Amino acid sequence: MKCPFCKEDQDRVIDSRSSDNGRVIRRRRQCLVCKRRFTTYEKVNEDFRLFVVKKDNSRVPYDREKVINGLEKACYKRPVSAEQLQQIADKAEETIFRSFDKEVSSSFIGESVMKQLRRVDKVAYIRFASIYRDFRDAGELIQEVSREIKETEPITQLTLFEE
Ligand SMILES: [Zn+2]
Repeated sequence: MKCPFCKEDQDRVIDSRSSDNGRVIRRRRQCLVCKRRFTTYEKVNEDFRLFVVKKDNSRVPYDREKVINGLEKACYKRPVSAEQLQQIADKAEETIFRSFDKEVSSSFIGESVMKQLRRVDKVAYIRFASIYRDFRDAGELIQEVSREIKETEPITQLTLFEE
């Protein structure tokens, strides 16, 4: 790597660490000629992007923003922080990128997000599911909701010590 100070091409790597969930690798380097230090970043080539196959079989590039937008809608006025939304997206993406490298169905993305959201907030989960999952009929949604309500701890227990 060419030194930005003396332009010589001799260096050694002092430190490497990944960030942005392994998508970026940051390397600290030292020039062997002038001894100065500089940093380089390695990133996956964006040409190898994951495509999402929609229900009508059209393809669009995967876009994390769309996942976050969907989560924001589902979590509207729910006690879920912006940081938690990012974590849900991170975990869903781990599953998605581990399972597919070229294209993935929009329903698989929906399912992966739902699985994570369910652990964080049941109400937001049901909202998300009702918008994004193909419920064959209303009966299926009601079944899902009543199952969730049974699983959720009674609210009285949760607020007992708060007053
Ligand atoms: Zn140098």
